Amino acid sequence: MKKDKIYCFIDRIKFIFKLIKDLKLSLLIVCLFLCVINVILPYITMINTQEIINRIQIGLSIRLILKRLIIFLILGILYIISSNLYNFLILKYKEYLYLELNKKFLDNSLKFNLKDFENPEVYNIIQRAEQEIGIRPYNIIISLLSIISQSVNLISAFLILTKWHLTLIIGFILLASFASKYFISISKNEYDILMNRTNYERKSWYISHLLIKDEYIKEVRLFGLSKYLIQQFIELRSRFFKENVDVLKRQYIFSEIYQLMNYVISFFIIFLAIYESTQGIILVGTAMTYINTSSKIENAIQNIVSNIFGIYKDSLYIDNIKKYFNYESNKFYGNKTLKNITTIEFVNVSFKYPNREVYAIRNTSFKIKKGEILAIVGENGSGKTTIIKLLNGLYDEYEGNILINGIEIREIDKKSLRNCLATLFQDYNKYQFTIKENIGFGSIDNLDDIEKIKYSAKKGGADQFINCLPNNYTQQVGYWFEGGTQLSGGQWQKLGLSRLFMKNADCLILDEPTASLDPFSELEIFKQLYQNSNEKINIIITHRFINTVFANKIIVLKNGEIIEKGKHDELLKQDGFYKDMFDIQSRGITLN
Ligand code: ADP
Repeated sequence: MKKDKIYCFIDRIKFIFKLIKDLKLSLLIVCLFLCVINVILPYITMINTQEIINRIQIGLSIRLILKRLIIFLILGILYIISSNLYNFLILKYKEYLYLELNKKFLDNSLKFNLKDFENPEVYNIIQRAEQEIGIRPYNIIISLLSIISQSVNLISAFLILTKWHLTLIIGFILLASFASKYFISISKNEYDILMNRTNYERKSWYISHLLIKDEYIKEVRLFGLSKYLIQQFIELRSRFFKENVDVLKRQYIFSEIYQLMNYVISFFIIFLAIYESTQGIILVGTAMTYINTSSKIENAIQNIVSNIFGIYKDSLYIDNIKKYFNYESNKFYGNKTLKNITTIEFVNVSFKYPNREVYAIRNTSFKIKKGEILAIVGENGSGKTTIIKLLNGLYDEYEGNILINGIEIREIDKKSLRNCLATLFQDYNKYQFTIKENIGFGSIDNLDDIEKIKYSAKKGGADQFINCLPNNYTQQVGYWFEGGTQLSGGQWQKLGLSRLFMKNADCLILDEPTASLDPFSELEIFKQLYQNSNEKINIIITHRFINTVFANKIIVLKNGEIIEKGKHDELLKQDGFYKDMFDIQSRGITLN
C-alpha cells in the first residue's frame, strides 16, 4: 500500500471507532479478552499434552502423568466455557451494534433536505450508507479481533519454534506478504465494480418493487408490463452476475495457489519433525508439538492475511458511511420562531429546481392575510405545487422574498414554520398503519387523543366509513400487514384531509384536495374548510372551478408566471385564460 492509501485506511478505522465509541465499548473489550484467551488456552493444552506423551515415552510414574491429565481436563473445561461465552457475547454485541447504528443512521437522515432526496448523487450516498451500516463496522471489528488474537497465536507459535528451526517461519512470512498484496488488489477491484453499479442496483430494486408491490402491480398487470420489466431486470442482473463471477474466479485461482504453497511448507515441517523424532533428536511429544504449531502458524497467517484483506475491503465501504454522516446539507438555519401566521407574501419570487435549467416559477408576487382564501389555478406543470413547497420551506435557493408576517422565511426556524402550516400534497402518504395513526400523525403529540382524532375524522368526512370498518379507529389499513383492509382512493383522501384537520394549524394548504371525492363529499369538505375561515388562511390548488367561487383571491399560473389575478367574477369579466378554462369545464364535454 502507498503512503496516502495507508493514511486513508487509518482514517477510516479511526472513523469507525468514533462511530462506535459510545456503543458498549466495555462489552467489546470483554470479547477481545476472551478471544485472546481462546487462542492461548490451546497452546497451554498443547504443551501440556507434549509433556504427557514425553513422560510416557521416557517411562515416568503414573502419578506424575496424572497431575498433567488433571491440568488437561481443567484447560479443556475452561476452553469450552470461554469459547461459548465469546460466541454469545460477540453475537450480542453484533445485535446491539446493528440496532444502535441503524438508529444513528435514521437520526442522521433528518438533516437531509427534500431537495437532497431529489438529487441522484445524494441519493446514492444515502442508499450506499444504508446498505453498509449494518455490515461493515461489525465486519471490521470482527476482523480486528481476529487479527489481534491471531497475532497472539503467531507470537506463541514463534516462541515454540525458535527452539527448533526458525528459518522455516520465514517461508510462511514471505508467502503471506506476497498474498496480502494480491488480496488487496482483488478487493479494490471488487469495490470499484460495486460502486459503479449503485445506480443500476437501485434500478433493479425499483423494477422488482414495481412487480411485487400492491401500489404498482395493478397498472403493471393491466398494461401488460410484467414481461418487459422482468426482461429489464434480467438484463441488469445478468451484468452483475458476470462481474461477480469474474471477481470470484480471480479469488478462487489465487486462493488455490496460495493454499497449495502454504501446504507444501507445512508438509516440509511435518516431514522434518518426524525425521528428527525417528533419529532420536527430539521426543515424540515434542515432534507432535512442532507439527501442531506449524499448522497453527499456517492457519494464523492465512487468517491474518484474509482478515487484513477483509478489513481493507470493508474499510473502502466505510467511505460511504463517512460521506453520509459528514454530509452537510446546504440549508439556511433560520432562528426566528413563528407563533402564528397573519400574512403570507411572495415578492418577485423565482425558482428553478436544482437539477433543472428552466424556472419552475418566475417573478411571482401575491399577498394573502388571515381570514382569506387563496385559490391557485393553472395547467399541469405551471408551478402551483412549487409555490406550496417553497411556502413550506422545502427549498431555500429562490430569488425574491417569501415573507411570513413580514419576516423572510429563510430566517424563520423551520420547525416553528411547519407547526403553523398544515399541508396536504397531491401525492400525500397512505400510511400502512391504523386509521387512528393515519389521522393522528397530523399531530403526533396527540396520537392518543381519540376524541380529537374522531373530531378530525368528522371534519375530513372520514367518520362514516371508519364507523363501518370492523375495527373502526384501530383498523389496520392497506394490504402490507396482517389484518389490513384496503381503502378506496376517496377514502384515503378523506383520511389525508382528516390528518390535515388534526393539525389545527393557522394556514391550511390543500393541493387538489377533493380530486378523488364524490360531489357530496366534496361539498361537505369545503363547508368544513370554510367554517371559521376568518381565523385562518386557506390556500387551495384546484382544477375545479366550483371550488374557486368562494376564494377571496385567485391567481392563475401559466408556465410558472402569474398571468391573471382577482376574484372569480372579476376573472370571468377579464375574459382571459381563467375564463377559457372555466368555459371548458362548465360547458361539459363536447368534442367540437
Ligand atoms: P403543477 O403543480 O402546476 O402541476 P409543479 O409546480 O409541480 O406544477 O411543477 C412546475 C415545474 O417544475 C414543472 O415543469 C415540473 O416538471 C418541474 N418540477 C416539479 N418538481 C420538480 C422536481 N422535484 N425537480 C425538478 N423539476 C420539478
